[in-house]
Amino acid sequence: MKKQIKNQMKLEFDSISENESFARVVVAAFLTQANPTLEEVADVKTAVSEAVTNAIIHGYEGGVHTVTIEARLDGQQLELEISDTGVGIPDVEKAMEPMYTTKPELERSGMGFLFMEAFMDEIQVDSKPGKGTRVRMQKLLGKRME
Ligand code: ATP
Ligand code: MG
Repeated sequence: MKKQIKNQMKLEFDSISENESFARVVVAAFLTQANPTLEEVADVKTAVSEAVTNAIIHGYEGGVHTVTIEARLDGQQLELEISDTGVGIPDVEKAMEPMYTTKPELERSGMGFLFMEAFMDEIQVDSKPGKGTRVRMQKLLGKRME
């Protein structure tokens, strides 16, 4: 019988755009132990990119502070938490609507949350203005083995 993985990691890094690809690659490396499909790896990388970019651009508005990623694997179940202690979101429900963006001048299209929802199984967003934002996402990996 295949051994059940139980593993977790926490990563903290500066909110500079160079770290978007760094964060993506670290999470992808972490989840290889769950034997994901290539498509699943690509999906998770996209979701991580979107959440990290949001923390950098919106949460910290270009300032350099800390972005935190926590990842947990319990068997094939992946859970990610991406958080910042930035400006927060006044109306989460509205922010998650497709095409809603507060930065149209930066050529943002308001699709980030939609991608996270599409590529992960579940997403929960907790945010408080002035306190920060935490995006939690779950995905079941290795579906080809079912
Ligand atoms: P795109 O992701 O397509 O480049 P976008 O970032 O504006 O555009 P979403 O990622 O869907 O679109 O986010 C929608 C809105 O939610 C943002 O415009 C911003 O107002 C708010 N938001 C998202 N993440 C954060 C965050 N970490 N801190 C503060 N506000 C956020
Ligand atoms: Mg975005």
